[in-house]
Amino acid sequence: MHDLTVIGAGPVGSYLASLCAARMSVQVLERKRIPGGKACSGLVSGRLKDILPGHIVQTPGLIQHSVKGARIHFLGEELELRKKGTAAYVIDRDLLDKRLAEHAESLGCDMRFGTSVRHVSVKPDRIRLGAGKASFESKMAAGCGGAYSVAARHIGARPPELLSGIVMLAEQEDRSDCVELWYNKRKATGGFLWRIPRGHQTEYGAMGTGVTIAGVGRFFGLGKMKLAGKAAAPIPIGLVRTYAARLLLAGDEACQTKPWSGGGVTYGLLAAQQASRVIGKAVEQDDFTEAMLSKYEEGWKKILYRDMQAGLVLRELYKDLEGSELSRIMHNLDSMKGLQGRMDFDFPFSRMLGGSLGA
Ligand SMILES: Cc1cc2nc3c(=O)[nH]c(=O)nc-3n(C[C@H](O)[C@H](O)[C@H](O)COP(=O)(O)OP(=O)(O)OC[C@H]3O[C@@H](n4cnc5c(N)ncnc54)[C@H](O)[C@@H]3O)c2cc1C
Repeated sequence: MHDLTVIGAGPVGSYLASLCAARMSVQVLERKRIPGGKACSGLVSGRLKDILPGHIVQTPGLIQHSVKGARIHFLGEELELRKKGTAAYVIDRDLLDKRLAEHAESLGCDMRFGTSVRHVSVKPDRIRLGAGKASFESKMAAGCGGAYSVAARHIGARPPELLSGIVMLAEQEDRSDCVELWYNKRKATGGFLWRIPRGHQTEYGAMGTGVTIAGVGRFFGLGKMKLAGKAAAPIPIGLVRTYAARLLLAGDEACQTKPWSGGGVTYGLLAAQQASRVIGKAVEQDDFTEAMLSKYEEGWKKILYRDMQAGLVLRELYKDLEGSELSRIMHNLDSMKGLQGRMDFDFPFSRMLGGSLGA
């Protein structure tokens, strides 16, 4: 019996498995036959370089492009926020997932691809995961299966909001240094549309309720454009319980996403670091109780909660306000341009309010 079973070899699951591998026996169950293939823009802050091992970040082709800021379009107005240096990197998300899964395997994790966990049952001395005819037992499990997957369902951790996310890749070189965002309540309710320069390609996308590939295509006039790919996936937003006896959740399955952008790669990886510490202690002390695993939730909340909470409040305000009120806010934001230098892609609220969060 393994000490830990991780459900899902997305970036968070594979990273968590690799962090735990030195201290315990780890098994990873992934439903896909090969890692990767997730619909994701891969826009991440430089924090990724501090979090992941150098040899992963330095993988040729992983960082495709970098940007210095964002141009925001709203009710016919424009606001540009820009840093002197790099504000965010555009990474090849597919390659990241593959490299992290290889890394976990190289550290001794038992990777089982093509294994979809359908059932979770917690016994007094173990947790059993059912996948078709096979079942896998371990001392504890980590649900890293993405938005509202099997472990989250088991503990009733339903995301308060489940938005749709869409990406469409055009064979259109774009080496500009700004992402563009459109806030349009009719075309992307509760979200926004975007255009991201990826260097060799351009990405068009949207998140919100009811966004569709056809709708994004129409908004950007992509009708006759040659597309290199298009994909969709859910984006969970909100706060949920992230532990139970013998089980914890991390990444999208734990709703560890930024409420203002849906981005979850950095938050999920930071939470995985907290998870690995608590799982290490649980295995060492043979204590898989809720009381022990609740320390994980305390740990990740110390880092992420303040910005998530502020972002959730902002989301509610945005949903409630009318056009003219939002337009006034946009003008006020324009007058806050002096704060641009302090802009933090992951922790905007803590940083502006003078906090010191982050990795
Ligand atoms: C359109 C779109 C654009 C986005 N853009 C960005 C961005 O620019 N920057 C950013 O930071 N974030 C972005 N995100 C969010 C980001 O993709 C997620 O936060 C991130 O993928 C979370 O990683 P994860 O490992 O938690 O989950 P996932 O990447 O969803 O991985 C979960 C893995 O678990 C597997 N799995 C699921 N259920 C089971 C099961 N029952 N049994 C076995 N395996 C299972 C899946 O196959 C998958 O491999 C975007 C999301 C979308 C939809």
